[in-house]
Amino acid sequence: MSLTGKLKYQFMKDLGAPALMSLQALKKRRHRPVSPAFGPPLKTNKRLKEILSRHYFLARYVPGAKKVAWVTSGAPVELLRAFDFYTIYPENHSALIGAKKQGAEYCGIAESGGFSQDLCSYARIDLGHLISGKSPAGKLPKPDLLFCSNNICQTVLYWYKAIAHELDIPLIHFDAPFVAIEQTPADVRYMAQQLQDMIPILEQITGKIFDLKQFEIILERSQESSQTWGAILESMQAKPAPMTIFDAFGHLAPVVSLRGLPVAQDYYHILQEEVEERVHLGIGAITNERYRLIWDNIAVWYQVRFLATFFAERNMNFVTATYTNAWAETTGLLDVKKPWTSMAQAYGQIILNNNMKHRLALMKKMITNFSVHGMVMHSTRSCKPYSVGQFDLRKALSKDLNLPAVILDADIADERVWSEQQIQTRLEAFCETLEDI
Ligand code: SF4
Repeated sequence: MSLTGKLKYQFMKDLGAPALMSLQALKKRRHRPVSPAFGPPLKTNKRLKEILSRHYFLARYVPGAKKVAWVTSGAPVELLRAFDFYTIYPENHSALIGAKKQGAEYCGIAESGGFSQDLCSYARIDLGHLISGKSPAGKLPKPDLLFCSNNICQTVLYWYKAIAHELDIPLIHFDAPFVAIEQTPADVRYMAQQLQDMIPILEQITGKIFDLKQFEIILERSQESSQTWGAILESMQAKPAPMTIFDAFGHLAPVVSLRGLPVAQDYYHILQEEVEERVHLGIGAITNERYRLIWDNIAVWYQVRFLATFFAERNMNFVTATYTNAWAETTGLLDVKKPWTSMAQAYGQIILNNNMKHRLALMKKMITNFSVHGMVMHSTRSCKPYSVGQFDLRKALSKDLNLPAVILDADIADERVWSEQQIQTRLEAFCETLEDI
């Protein structure tokens, strides 16, 4: 790390980023017309935009000041935070590109470079970004380290191996055994040991000595942020729900990408205060909430607005989702008194690393607790671990809870996999079923 790099980064952090935020606040926004079916927007949306813009802005100045790690969404990032890595989440960056409807362009670059169209679009977009050097976020810093865990899928391991090979940088893999029945003590010991074994490697990469006290503070912050996020999601049990799951898809970003940092912790307190106030005042995310729905799987990032409007105009609100719940379900298990085993328990049991019986029980609980009338399952071409088994889940939930459900075939970030007409027909039929009950 160079002194000039550190000074430049500090200058941008203290002066450049606040100046950029002030400029952004002054900029006249192009307001797209919003359907009257929506209630007032969340005030916290503005803060979310500021935090994410600042994160990507500062990322441009971080090389030379801090070590950079690219991390998967399910990886135990708290350990890296203890070594002061600047973390970039390629999945978040790919979702951002997807939301801008530029996914197909980046996927196309990766495909021309030899990567199969069957590969997850998050991976293809990231590889397309690496090949082309393009990014709507300006410029992403090149990683000094890659940190992944197969607790979300096996794809990440091969995707990160490809980057490690290309950039000739180290890759640390946190191996999480799949929970076929239940997590065993041997699994927990195996994962806890891996985490401790990473310490000397991280010390060598960063030249910093591991500070247990600092690590415990980070772990506590992470646990608290996840629990606050869980409480925010639970506030949607209220009728009307103070926000929609389409809001939550956006507000999820800090708990995924900035988990363990004070900025995420503070952010969720502000959001929690706002949703609680809305519940107290009876302010709903949609103006006439008659039907309450559950969403299964990752968002269709390039069609969030279309889907939100389609359902809001039919008085239907998504009040819960397995996806947004994933960062509240187990990270609350983090326990500073037993850091290693609690991290193994939390990160080893997340939804995509857990069996179908668990997922079915979890969904039943969510459907009951959130007074859900119907279910939309996004069968995404990209994410096999999330999409395989959805037909069985739908069958079981329809049988046990008599729940109307529809499956949408689409993709998370590659907009070429969206068939407007077919989806519209399916959704109309689903809405008619709901209105008939
Ligand atoms: S979307 Fe699914 S396949 Fe793609 S990186 Fe995430 S978990 Fe893995």
